[in-house]
Amino acid sequence: MSKHVIDRLSPYLDGALGAADLEQVEAHLEACVSCRRAYQELQTLQGLVRALPDPEPSPGFTDRLHWRLQREGAAPRRPAPLGWFSVRPPFRVALVCAAVLVVLGLPAAWMADRFAPQKAPLDTDAYVREYLLLSVDRPLGDEAAPAFVLSDTPASESPRP
Ligand SMILES: [Zn+2]
Repeated sequence: MSKHVIDRLSPYLDGALGAADLEQVEAHLEACVSCRRAYQELQTLQGLVRALPDPEPSPGFTDRLHWRLQREGAAPRRPAPLGWFSVRPPFRVALVCAAVLVVLGLPAAWMADRFAPQKAPLDTDAYVREYLLLSVDRPLGDEAAPAFVLSDTPASESPRP
């Protein structure tokens, strides 16, 4: 016996099968009891569905529908909600780049800081002590003074040999 044809029973019932499939299904239905029973159930179901009355809209449905359509047609268009697809492509690319930088950059910065050689915090007392030791024989602010030789006589009146 050929393969069961249950998956092709619905298109067979709708007359949607090609000639080759149609022959196979018909031959199989003559030989296979279980597929024939499934086909009969499908036929019964289809008949029951077709026998159902068409649904009737509630009274005034058409008027309400027309009124609503007119109202929505007259209403000003609302701007699209702010979403990913309202962002223009160049800004989308920039947003993605920024997100990647944040996602990758923050952990990288944290790791770099974590594994960097630890610098000793500035010891202000030691700094001031060293500054005072180095500048003890210089008057305060001497570093900024222009380097020229002070003399009582101007250069033009220098003593001639
Ligand atoms: Zn079968």
